[in-house]
Amino acid sequence: MPAYRAPRGTRDLLPPDRVALARLEHIGADLAARYGYHPIETPLFEQAAVFERGIGAVTDVVEKELFLLQPREEDGERWALRPEPTAGIVRAFVQHGMQTWPQPVKLTMTGQMFRYDRPQAGRYRSFWQFDVEAIGDPGPAVDAEIIELAARFYAAAGLVDTTIYLNSIGDAACRPAYVAELAAYYREHLAELPAFEKGRLERAPLRLLDSKDERVVALNAEAPKITERLCDACAAHFASVRAHLDAVGVRYVLNPYLVRGLDYYTRTAFEAYPAGDDGQQSALGGGGRYDGLVELLGGRPTPGIGFGLGLDRVLLALEKAGVERVMEGPPVAVVVGSDPADTVTRLRIATELRAAGLAARAELGQRKLGKQLEAAARDGAHFAVIIGDELAGGHVQLRDLEAGTQRAVEVASLARELERAAKSHHHGVGEGA
Ligand code: AMP
Repeated sequence: MPAYRAPRGTRDLLPPDRVALARLEHIGADLAARYGYHPIETPLFEQAAVFERGIGAVTDVVEKELFLLQPREEDGERWALRPEPTAGIVRAFVQHGMQTWPQPVKLTMTGQMFRYDRPQAGRYRSFWQFDVEAIGDPGPAVDAEIIELAARFYAAAGLVDTTIYLNSIGDAACRPAYVAELAAYYREHLAELPAFEKGRLERAPLRLLDSKDERVVALNAEAPKITERLCDACAAHFASVRAHLDAVGVRYVLNPYLVRGLDYYTRTAFEAYPAGDDGQQSALGGGGRYDGLVELLGGRPTPGIGFGLGLDRVLLALEKAGVERVMEGPPVAVVVGSDPADTVTRLRIATELRAAGLAARAELGQRKLGKQLEAAARDGAHFAVIIGDELAGGHVQLRDLEAGTQRAVEVASLARELERAAKSHHHGVGEGA
């Protein structure tokens, strides 16, 4: 076993995986732009208080999973790696006075998030999210638009069978009474609660609803439902979100126990799972409305909604579904030569082809021409540019590796010839010259 390994809970993304992730990033960026979201980038770490205040101190993400950084002595601030993007984006929204921009401000970001979670399949300490946030719109239409965007992302990624769970978790008007009722219910069943949940009961009873402990999951089946306790305004908002979703043809399943793990959510909450697999480690993404968050982080009261889709989970689901990975294209041409020692010419010609915009590789080893051609074919290159004695007269051989044909081409027009040949369907370069 090597002495140095990637930290527990992290993975190196080797080329096929990185390419697959890049494809998802690209789909996300493309869709977000089409829906009017503008890219933003925030630091990988923030003052820990941004998460403690923003996400809530009594949440799994902050209480158990926050990745705290050890500060150097001269810098006493407490920092934490970002466990999710929303708190940092809202911090930036407030800091840069975005409330004076035309509303809503629609932002998107894709990047790595960090949670000091117990590593297991599908649960990493460093993972990727595709995120969008629409800040300054109270909904309900934008709620449906965002959920539809999430559904479209999964479909575009190649996940055909995704279930979206939907709930409303109320607001400051109706949630407190519900939470009190919920706490009373749990107190009646105190003996059945595990120690950790018991400790949380008085501080954040809502958190028990998304507990992963089997005993609590069983209790939750009989717990009072928030959707039956919504105030009129929240109930109307929720009904309208559903009507908008129906109008745009997004299918969803109502789930009254979906509360999301973070404190800042109000009203709309949703999560996506691969169809038939709603295990905790399978959640493909989630989001919701956070009408109190901007104010909580020091801004003027401003409504907002967003989602974070877990790209590692999407890759795992695609793999499970047997969706084939699209690999990066092979080089169009490999430059080889009859004089193994003449790496200077091979490098020079490949450099010229690349400067002209072509994907070209040069054989930089000093092996015999036959071996060079074998390697070019193994690379999946369409063409080999063969350098020989004719170079003195300004010519090289252009060989179609699939067809096995070749002809002489002037070096001066090589890039143009290759471009034309690569575009033609049969990759044929024709016979003779
Ligand atoms: P959350 O805000 O916790 O619901 O996270 C949003 C999405 O990010 C989840 O639905 C997952 O797809 C993904 N995610 C969250 N935590 C992890 C993790 N530890 N490893 C991989 N993906 C994660």
